[in-house]
Amino acid sequence: MSRTAYEALPTVEPAEPAASVGTVVMKFGGTSVADPEKIRRVAQRLVEAKGRGGRVVGVVSAMGHHTDELVALAHDVSARPKPRELDMLISVGERISCALVAMAIADLGQDAISLTGSQAGIVTDTSHGKAKIVDVRARRIHEALDEEKIVLVAGFQGVSTGYDITTLGRGGSDTTAVALAAALGADACEIYTDVDGVFTADPRVVPEARKLHAVSYEEMLEMAASGAKVLQLRSVEFARNHGVQLHVRSTFTDEDGTWIREEDERMLEKAMISGVTHTADEAVFEVHDLDPATLFDAVAETGMSVDTLIQVGTTLVFSTPLEDRADAEGALARLGASWIEHTHLGKVSVAGAGLRSHPAVAARAFAALSGVGLKPSFVAASPIRIAFFVPEEGVEQAVQALHDAFELGEPTADRQHA
Ligand code: ADP
Ligand code: ASP
Ligand code: MG
Repeated sequence: MSRTAYEALPTVEPAEPAASVGTVVMKFGGTSVADPEKIRRVAQRLVEAKGRGGRVVGVVSAMGHHTDELVALAHDVSARPKPRELDMLISVGERISCALVAMAIADLGQDAISLTGSQAGIVTDTSHGKAKIVDVRARRIHEALDEEKIVLVAGFQGVSTGYDITTLGRGGSDTTAVALAAALGADACEIYTDVDGVFTADPRVVPEARKLHAVSYEEMLEMAASGAKVLQLRSVEFARNHGVQLHVRSTFTDEDGTWIREEDERMLEKAMISGVTHTADEAVFEVHDLDPATLFDAVAETGMSVDTLIQVGTTLVFSTPLEDRADAEGALARLGASWIEHTHLGKVSVAGAGLRSHPAVAARAFAALSGVGLKPSFVAASPIRIAFFVPEEGVEQAVQALHDAFELGEPTADRQHA
């Protein structure tokens, strides 16, 4: 590919008038394209959007659990698949679904074209498995949109500055969609998924959880970082940094979902907590007598993500997603550190912009947890989140107890306003 094949597109500033009025980016997750019937329904939705007169870009995830299956297949073949080859393999899932959606759109009499991340001009750094988007060279998308085509882009992937195929980390199609919305100056970035929006807790754990009408970028960052996997953390960072408003909604209904945007006072006047999140997929390390700067230099080199960080005296506690556990162990071993790994802990967090002005939240949360016999091993707080590490088997009970304590099942919790 020649170096002039793309034309770098400067990131669109939110204050600028959008260059292409009427562009919409619509992203569909794995459950939404899980079988041929669902693929046809997604095609129908994209065609309807096009019928309303806009320029339509669809971003799709791999069908159902295809990415998990591809990862498992790699490990069946090789104990340590090379990261470059793993990315070649797992990027395939999204290519399949976007080609199928393009075929279904053609059957509805509408022109469409499917593009890989690379063809769509998504350029990333060289970090396989968790690559960061560094540029979007959208010339080819613009040309196809100018020809009145619906453009389908394979999510979750790009091409590195070293010309290799990369993937963006699990859940990365969300980030593809937001990056495209920013680069194209889209009016809307719609994230279609298998729930009706962002809820006060995972609706699969707390049946009476309520759909939130609006959530600020800061709150959504905290919720995504602490386990609400409905949006990939990086996609929320990208949206905040580029002023892209997100609308998380159901693939299967026309109902409004949840708006993610700048904070406004109406979000705060009703409920101080936006939600309770949880994750069981975390490793917690307790490290003794090691210079924190040395440790975090080593951690940064591996590219792993660290969420919680606590220091008491000469003891440091930090947590990482399970997928980064081996990196953390490797870094600690190289430094000759002595550490304890807490394996059977889950993390339950309360998040909300109202926390800033309501310090009593902590007391209420501790009381709720002790009410169900749970004593957190570690607690970490940010201005708008408190995270409690509790035994894995107590996680769901803790989520329910905190959801009850902050009355998040009540109508006021959903921030509905005119
Ligand atoms: P997709 O395949 O569409 O990207 P994901 O599985 O990545 O969907 O994310 C949607 C899932 O996120 C939901 O099915 C739900 O179980 C889970 N989830 C966790 N926390 C929340 C929350 N607070 N609000 C909504 N969904 C949540
Ligand atoms: N298919 C990828 C995954 O399962 C990306 C995504 O769904 O957003 O992580
Ligand atoms: Mg997802």
